[in-house]
Amino acid sequence: MSQLPSSAAEAEKIGSIRYNDGVPCKHGHDSDRYTQNHACAECSRIHSKKESARQRRENPVGKRVVASRSRAKKLGVPFDTQAYLDAWAARGDYCPALGIKFVQPPAPLTFATPEMDRIIPELGYVRGNIWVISRQANKMKNNGTAAMLRQIADAVDERIAQGK
Ligand SMILES: [Zn+2]
Repeated sequence: MSQLPSSAAEAEKIGSIRYNDGVPCKHGHDSDRYTQNHACAECSRIHSKKESARQRRENPVGKRVVASRSRAKKLGVPFDTQAYLDAWAARGDYCPALGIKFVQPPAPLTFATPEMDRIIPELGYVRGNIWVISRQANKMKNNGTAAMLRQIADAVDERIAQGK
């Protein structure tokens, strides 16, 4: 079923990044191999999965910073790394917006996972404009202003009252 070349040499000739010689790796994976280093693709996949789990465990903030910084770059908003780290470190046990108890990483993602929020999105990740709130609060707030969020809350109340 694989259309891949059956040797590294052949793969190199046609510029394929993978080949499949049909020989299982030493861990028994019947998997493609990378042309460059002859590494088993399945072993590599397992390794990189383990590696990112390790990084998440050992350096959860670093990963967060990288992700947020690239988001900031994409959005064209400022990113102050120190402000970010300070805001993250200063987060408490509870969501300041909804009062729910945070489920701190590296626990699996839930509605109570703490997330960094730009209070006024277009101002970016700068001191005074970021806080750590629950995923639930972050989703609800999205890019809404306080006035918009109040309007929604009022509209929900009103709608419920009408329905009675
Ligand atoms: Zn393998």
